[in-house]
Amino acid sequence: MTRRKKLFSQIFPSYFLIAVISLLVTVWFVFNLLNAFIVSQTQENLTARAHLFSQNIRVDDISLKADSLQEINRRCKQAGEASGTRITVILPEGRVLADSEEDSRIMENHRDRPEIAAALKGGVGSAIRYSATLQRKMMYVAIGIPQDKGAARLVVRTSVPLKSVYQALGEVKWEIIKIFFLITLLVALVSLMVSKKIARPVQEMEAGARRFAAGYLERKLVLPDSKELASLAEAMNKMSVQLDERIKIIKRQKNELETVFGSMTEAVIAVDKTDRILQSNHAAEVFLGNSGSQLQGKYLYEVIRNHDFTQFIATAAGSEKAEGDIAFEIKEEDARVINVKSAALIDETGQRIGTLLVLNDVTRMRQLENMRREFAANVSHEIKTPLTSIQGFAEALLAEPIINGNQEGKHYLEIIIKNARRLSAIIEDVLRLSNIEHADRKKDFHFEKKKISTVIDSAVNVCRPEADQKDIRIVTDCDPALTALMDFSLTEQAFINLLENAVKYSPENSEVKIEAAAGDGNITVRFADNGVGIPAVHIPRLFERFYRVDKTRSRKLGGTGLGLAIVKHIVQIHGWKIDVSSTPGQGSTFSVIIPSP
Ligand code: ADP
Repeated sequence: MTRRKKLFSQIFPSYFLIAVISLLVTVWFVFNLLNAFIVSQTQENLTARAHLFSQNIRVDDISLKADSLQEINRRCKQAGEASGTRITVILPEGRVLADSEEDSRIMENHRDRPEIAAALKGGVGSAIRYSATLQRKMMYVAIGIPQDKGAARLVVRTSVPLKSVYQALGEVKWEIIKIFFLITLLVALVSLMVSKKIARPVQEMEAGARRFAAGYLERKLVLPDSKELASLAEAMNKMSVQLDERIKIIKRQKNELETVFGSMTEAVIAVDKTDRILQSNHAAEVFLGNSGSQLQGKYLYEVIRNHDFTQFIATAAGSEKAEGDIAFEIKEEDARVINVKSAALIDETGQRIGTLLVLNDVTRMRQLENMRREFAANVSHEIKTPLTSIQGFAEALLAEPIINGNQEGKHYLEIIIKNARRLSAIIEDVLRLSNIEHADRKKDFHFEKKKISTVIDSAVNVCRPEADQKDIRIVTDCDPALTALMDFSLTEQAFINLLENAVKYSPENSEVKIEAAAGDGNITVRFADNGVGIPAVHIPRLFERFYRVDKTRSRKLGGTGLGLAIVKHIVQIHGWKIDVSSTPGQGSTFSVIIPSP
């Protein structure tokens, strides 16, 4: 992990360091300049002194006599003491003639000294070196005293100890160092202030951002002086306003949802992928006899022990939506029917995260439905027997010779027979529908793999007489290899109903076509006619009980209004689909879509 430094501790040392380094470089330059300056000044000084002294001695005077040497030595000492300079007079061959501080007679030959050699060549020689004679570092300047012929006959050398040169400089340097430290202190103070000035608004903004993060969005950031930081603070303030608004909206929506969720009469349970309860509403808690906090985190099978329910959950987990009625024995002798609907719980990335279950107590509703069905079945049964005898006796009466002669009586009897037949057809259909609705899927239906062509042929045989009466040709086109899992008699009933309708609503001398073909993973059985057709507005309600497009026509043709309702039920039982397409005046096509296994 990178260790992060405070902004202040990043700014301050850098400022300070840059300032101190530039100061140090300046001081170093000044020291070097001073050194160079003092050296050149001293050299010029020594050269001037050498020239001055050289005026003191005439070259012509010089002889190597003892008294003359003494005189030169005396002058040397005198001038040396007066000027604080060591003065040495040297002959061109290097012998020291006089020296202001030492006895010239014991001094070694100076010919090899670099300043002397340079002076003898006619220039000004200078050198800084350790003097063996005086045992200290000295600065030397030597000049040749020119003779008439131009050659130097004598060399005058002036020198001072280097220590004295640098001593004066040392004081100046010390002053500079003192100033340096003073400025460094000032720089430190200024850097400290500037760093704090830069870091403070950032620190304040950081504290503000932390407040925002903690959810305190009311107090806004104070805008700092600098433009960039001010616009940053402004942006953060705007962000906090938006955040505040969004949080309020989310809270409001959450409250609304919770209210809706809590006041629902249906029990709602959300489970994750492992069937662990994520959330539940009040109705679910009542239904399961547990409080919400007890339910959360528990597995569904811990709180609902029901085999059918567990199976339903397994199906729901693998599908987008599922629905089923499940019988629950909540308390002893309290059998309940719960309708369970499920929907996949999807997160914002579109991933499935669990399942939402809505449990609705439909016990009362189912009881009423059963009562209604039973009532319809019972009434039909009760009517059927007297109706059969009415129809039977009316038919018998019609055959009697007395009636045969009486045209009016015959007509009335025929009306009685026609209506008795119609009523009996309705009762047949009501009973059929009620039987299908009442049937136990497992016990009463026998699903087996059957050839589709066989069912079609069987339905055609049933409807043939009616078709023949109207000169209608029934054309079938079915691949004999096509099979489907079906309850044969139910499927036959559905196909008969569709074929009967096609014949019923077709004009005489027309054609009805039955086609069965596989494609798109389905087998589609189409019943196409060239009959009256159905206006589009009626199509959505066509499969409702007793719904007819044209009541009079249907009645006249002997329709019961229940044919398509029966077809719908049969198709649903098989898990198939039915589709209608029709053009009024041209014909209709009813398609049964059977998904291939
Ligand atoms: P019905 O016994 O009256 O025919 P159905 O339930 O079989 O009752 O049909 C409902 C209504 O749908 C019919 O009354 C009729 O108006 C319409 N219908 C059904 N099949 C066809 C068809 N092949 N052509 C035109 N109309 C049809």
